[in-house]
Amino acid sequence: MDDKEHRLHEVGRREVLVAAVGGVVALAAGGLCRPARAAAAQHELPELPYAANALEPIISARTIEFHHGKHHKAYVENLNKLIQGTEFAKRSLDEIITATAGQADKAAIFNNAAQVWNHTFYWKSLKPQGGGGPPGALRQKIEASFGSVEACKKELAGAAVAQFGSGWAWLVLDGERLKVVKTSNAETPLTSGVKPLLTIDVWEHAYYLDYQNRRGDYVDAVLDKLIDWDFALRRAS
Ligand code: MN
Repeated sequence: MDDKEHRLHEVGRREVLVAAVGGVVALAAGGLCRPARAAAAQHELPELPYAANALEPIISARTIEFHHGKHHKAYVENLNKLIQGTEFAKRSLDEIITATAGQADKAAIFNNAAQVWNHTFYWKSLKPQGGGGPPGALRQKIEASFGSVEACKKELAGAAVAQFGSGWAWLVLDGERLKVVKTSNAETPLTSGVKPLLTIDVWEHAYYLDYQNRRGDYVDAVLDKLIDWDFALRRAS
């Protein structure tokens, strides 16, 4: 390397160093300038309670990967964007849902917040090797409200299939009684004073890759093989 080449090399290196240091400083400044309270209020995509392939063959890993990794994730990201700098930035998910329900000008925030909650609840409503019969304490409550476990399952499946378009079927606790309700789009029973115990997502994205238009087959399979009655009992206790 002659002197001229050496000088060029040094200049080039210095420019790279300056750019690199500048970048680090900019990153550090960005980190320091970000208000801590906004960071703390960010909602996060919860991890699945089981592996993506754990619900196979009832629900495929591919469905779960899209459903959790794309749909659920998008609701979380949209919610965080929508509440940034608003009165909702520091509120809990439940508070946001309650405060925005039924307000036309807050529909986007409500829809994304409720969908974050509904999906987290849906993952918990299912488990590998679920289905079967409910544990004794829940069976008693079910029999008191529906007459039999079969009648309860039939009503739940009926609500899931009858829901027109996108939505959810729910088993809820209304005072001392168990009930089945269905909701449209992002609507959730949380806002009607009842306690959700279980849910089945009947948006097409929940089943279309595996069942296409056969929503009833998806619902029956979920009730028979995946529904987590123990989770419902813990919620009801
Ligand atoms: Mn969904």
